[in-house]
Amino acid sequence: MKSKFSILIVLILAAGFAGGCGPNASGAGSLYTTNVPVLEVEGLHFAPARAVNDQKINFSTLKPPPAPKPAIVTRILGKSRQGKSISMTVFGKTGPTLLVFAGIHGNEPRSVAVAKKLDAELRANRDLVQSCRVALISCVSPDGLALNSRYNATGTIDLNRNFPARSFTKRDPRCGPAPASEPETKCVLAAVSALSPKAIISIHTCDRRRPGSTRDRHGNNWDGKGKALADAMARHNRYRSFGEWHNKTPGSFGSYANDNGLCVVTLEIPNDVSASAAWTANRGALIEAIRYTRSSR
Ligand SMILES: [Zn+2]
Repeated sequence: MKSKFSILIVLILAAGFAGGCGPNASGAGSLYTTNVPVLEVEGLHFAPARAVNDQKINFSTLKPPPAPKPAIVTRILGKSRQGKSISMTVFGKTGPTLLVFAGIHGNEPRSVAVAKKLDAELRANRDLVQSCRVALISCVSPDGLALNSRYNATGTIDLNRNFPARSFTKRDPRCGPAPASEPETKCVLAAVSALSPKAIISIHTCDRRRPGSTRDRHGNNWDGKGKALADAMARHNRYRSFGEWHNKTPGSFGSYANDNGLCVVTLEIPNDVSASAAWTANRGALIEAIRYTRSSR
């Protein structure tokens, strides 16, 4: 077959040179005619002649092919105490990673709602994760969320007191019997270990103020290397940037971050706003966190 095609091409070219092939032959010097069918020889496609002859190709205007879209991959990190899946979605293929997790306290459902809004934003605006990755765990404590409880299904253990920080203490029953005794805590630690994130945001909600206090309780609470990130986020959500909770919360993720020099912001959203208002207030801060991560190579 190869030899037949080769002969066919030679004949076509020879006829073209002779200027007598087909009704649209443009005379001497025309190499091709419009009557030449598309040929395929060893996987190569030869386009119809007119497409070659009639178009003036300006190579300076040719654009490179668009970059492939970044991947979106969802993985199950593990199961909760009651067997619910705890999943993580990673947006983007390469570059430094921002890890965002929410719902570690199941009685803070707006944190989960904001995480889901971020998920939708990243799916709609893939350019956000060019040259970086965002890993998102929308709900660390699905059992707590179902129970509307600060604790996991044990009813006594606060997952944000169960991390292997130096401040962990068995004397506080909220910490649990041992560091990372809970499957949900293990999921977060597995994500940190697997991704080595440049920055981490843990989304919570809290009372805007304590009774009798004039000081905002919500804000961008940084730990470890998180101060610059908290300051950058504060310029967008207008919450204060603060670090005074350091190690006052035994076994917390922030305390663990301090021990390990991680860049962490615990984003405390006031719980007197709707989910959509919380998203509107924090969308820019979260996008800023992605930019911050991308630039922190
Ligand atoms: Zn919380």
